[in-house]
Amino acid sequence: MATKEKATLAQVAGENSHSNYTKHGIDYLLAQLHKVRQTGHGRWIGCCPSHNDKSPSLTIRDDDGVILLKCFAGCSAYEIVSAVGMEMSNLFPEQREYSKQNISKNPFPAADVLRCIQMEALIVAVTACNIVKDTSLSDKEKNRLLIAAARIGGAYV
Ligand SMILES: [Zn+2]
Repeated sequence: MATKEKATLAQVAGENSHSNYTKHGIDYLLAQLHKVRQTGHGRWIGCCPSHNDKSPSLTIRDDDGVILLKCFAGCSAYEIVSAVGMEMSNLFPEQREYSKQNISKNPFPAADVLRCIQMEALIVAVTACNIVKDTSLSDKEKNRLLIAAARIGGAYV
């Protein structure tokens, strides 16, 4: 999933063209998000606008002018920027070339990842308790549990 999203970002970077620069920039994006908190230089965490996000699961990074987005619930960068009325091209500064190499490395610090994983752990714990008390889980709930478990497992790889 992550690899696919990065490939999409790289494509958009290559096709960056003259478009709506009035909505360009990290300041505009952060103003649209809820519960935004700065976690470091050029790094923020906030609620994802693309899904019903009660606990911040979106990490935002300003990497030398390029805005990098990662929703730990799985929303794509396209879905996130669309939800706040931006375009993918708004994530990139004007007239600048970025190689895939520049944005293919994982830019998210472990602390941010683990912060988001805490929510997944909570979902697993709550769902597991429900299984014990009530075995009539819906398929959707079962699938969500499996996804959460997989994400937690993946965090330690
Ligand atoms: Zn999301």
